[in-house]
Amino acid sequence: MEGLIRKAAAALRRSRFAVALTGAGMSTESGVPDFRGPSGIWTRDPEAEKRAFRSYERFKRNPQEYWVERLTGPPLLGDLAGVAPNPGHLALAELEAAGILKWVITQNIDNLHQRAGSQKVIDYHGNAFKLRCASCTARYEPDDFDLGKMLREGTLPPLCRRCGGVVKSDIVHFHESIPPDVSSLSLEAALTSDVMLVCGTSAVVYPFANLPRLARRHRREGSLPFTLIEVNAEPTPLTEQNISDYLIPGKTGEILPRLASELREKKN
Ligand code: NAD
Repeated sequence: MEGLIRKAAAALRRSRFAVALTGAGMSTESGVPDFRGPSGIWTRDPEAEKRAFRSYERFKRNPQEYWVERLTGPPLLGDLAGVAPNPGHLALAELEAAGILKWVITQNIDNLHQRAGSQKVIDYHGNAFKLRCASCTARYEPDDFDLGKMLREGTLPPLCRRCGGVVKSDIVHFHESIPPDVSSLSLEAALTSDVMLVCGTSAVVYPFANLPRLARRHRREGSLPFTLIEVNAEPTPLTEQNISDYLIPGKTGEILPRLASELREKKN
């Protein structure tokens, strides 16, 4: 394990454009459950998965009903405002501040990378603390609309001030496309990267899971250097299909701080 951490630190130290790809496993140590881990939301309650799959359909069919349900029902991931970043998030923020990490591309919607201090974050599946126009992708803060009043007065859904389109949560629901600005920025960052740190994702949700695969192929075809390091509690399809060079097995909240500390020590 120590050997793998030293090897990863050496790759990051040599890198010119390192990016991190993160998933729900990054936040389990903050108390936010993942979907497919042993105590994941889907693992414990398969019905919750079916409900989540219907969200986008409901938005398209009846945006008012979608909004009433969002404002009155329990959030799928619990109270995200009440959780705090863990040492894994803080370690990635430290790597960005040290000039090593150029982007964090996260599937998480929990805003914990930003709260840990990371500034270059791409919320691939949106952000639970933002709203987005379904037509023109303009982003809004929830306070930009008086949603409570709209609920009481029956005037939901909120409408976009730029184009008049219907505003939804920024979260990318199942069956919904990734917003085009997010998709192109993520692809560009992935294809430019020479070191990719893939942390706490089962790498089975597409198109996100394509990013490491496309990066590997692109860099190989161009004979460009590329190292893909996974940090995960268990092997993933990236490990099994040799897309990753190696897996550092264990918890992101323990391994990433050790990696940051290795980089810090060698620098001094
Ligand atoms: P996933 O639930 O499919 O997989 C989580 C992975 O993380 C598993 O491989 C598990 O072994 C690993 N893991 C769990 N805890 C870990 C830890 N402490 N250290 C290292 N590894 C750990 O998650 P996914 O691949 O991100 O896909 C789920 C989708 O659901 C994502 O698209 C995401 O948008 C959404 N989601 C987000 C959150 C969040 O915002 N925190 C939480 C649940 C799901």
